[in-house]
Amino acid sequence: MGKHLLSIKISSMTESATIKMAQDARALKSQGIDVISLSLGEPDFDTPDFIKDAAKKALDAGETKYTPVPGHLSLREAICKKLKRDNKLVYTPDQIVVSNGAKQCIANTCLSLVNPGDEVIIFTPYWVSYYDIVQFVGGTPVTVYAGIDQDFKVTPDQLRDAITPKTKLIIFSSPSNPTGSVYTEQELSELAAVISKTEGVFVLSDEIYELINFSNKNPSIATMEGMQDRTITINGMSKGYAMTGWRLGYMAAPAFIAKACSTIQGQFTSGAASFNQLAAAHALDQDTQVVRYMADKFLARKNMVKALLDDIPGIRTNDPQGAFYFFPDISEFFGKSNGTRTINSSEDFADVLLTEAHVAVVAGSAFGDPSCFRISYATSDDVLREAMRRIKTTLATFS
Ligand code: PMP
Ligand code: GLU
Repeated sequence: MGKHLLSIKISSMTESATIKMAQDARALKSQGIDVISLSLGEPDFDTPDFIKDAAKKALDAGETKYTPVPGHLSLREAICKKLKRDNKLVYTPDQIVVSNGAKQCIANTCLSLVNPGDEVIIFTPYWVSYYDIVQFVGGTPVTVYAGIDQDFKVTPDQLRDAITPKTKLIIFSSPSNPTGSVYTEQELSELAAVISKTEGVFVLSDEIYELINFSNKNPSIATMEGMQDRTITINGMSKGYAMTGWRLGYMAAPAFIAKACSTIQGQFTSGAASFNQLAAAHALDQDTQVVRYMADKFLARKNMVKALLDDIPGIRTNDPQGAFYFFPDISEFFGKSNGTRTINSSEDFADVLLTEAHVAVVAGSAFGDPSCFRISYATSDDVLREAMRRIKTTLATFS
């Protein structure tokens, strides 16, 4: 009802599939159904106490007012120090914009750079919101697909073939959501060699999972030759510091792009929450070892879940090197039936798992790969074991 009254822009935007599945699982739970939700990508850890304490202190000190639109200077300075220390990237505070989560940084970047008709290359499988944000700003998403056989990583040749005179921006995440794949320094430098030869093309490098990286190497594409002037590096507090609800992300970019993002933010939302920013500055001032215990736990779970998934006939996995997702290929199930249900797509697969196994996962189609599904393993070992048991039992009824 009333849908026809909405703007054309919003009518073409779909609801985030990850958030929708998490809501569907909550709704079933509230009806008393014992659903295990592996849908939302959110650390199950609480925010570390030292960060909470810093926020309490900031509140008590009266940090409750509007903040500078691009973020408190002290936080932007802490981000510059962090980028130098952890990423070998030299930035000044006027090149940093703090926003309400990395999501807003991505939206700001696309709004700042993309004109209607510009092509935006999105490495596929991609994180759900990239596609919709690009479409919303009038860009044309160009997906470059890298399947499980190449560890979901785009090759320099694939990228070269996808670039046209209309290409404006290239978006990818490493460690990747949804695949967990991590580009090595060598792979990034080969991609950078292709990009840096093309005038007028920018890269949005989403490094939000930087601290959940089992390879212990987190190269930033902005460090590669000729890349810093054309890269927007995005990061944030949500994943590595278990601060999803705090809504704090940041970008480091050429100053003219940072300024444009700040202008947009000044009109849309203003600066991010005040006391959060001082707590984030305190967190970023510490050695990243203070949050390593979470990545260690995710690694142990990754190994456990991989063994359990590999034990389910018909499921194929890669070996993710970061983030907290598996993105298994389930195309072997297409056309199979259990007498009442037939699986013909990744949506059917996710629906069967939800309704018959009571495990909520996200269909691969939402990430641009209809032969896979995504699980988030950011939950306890017991819950993960039970979820894998249910999935195995349900899938065994399909032939
Ligand atoms: N990028 C990726 C790849 C993500 O998975 C997420 C998850 N929310 C975000 C960006 C957005 O993070 P934030 O909570 O900082 O908005
Ligand atoms: N990034 C997380 C995910 O992919 C959180 C949900 C969202 O922001 O879309 O599940």
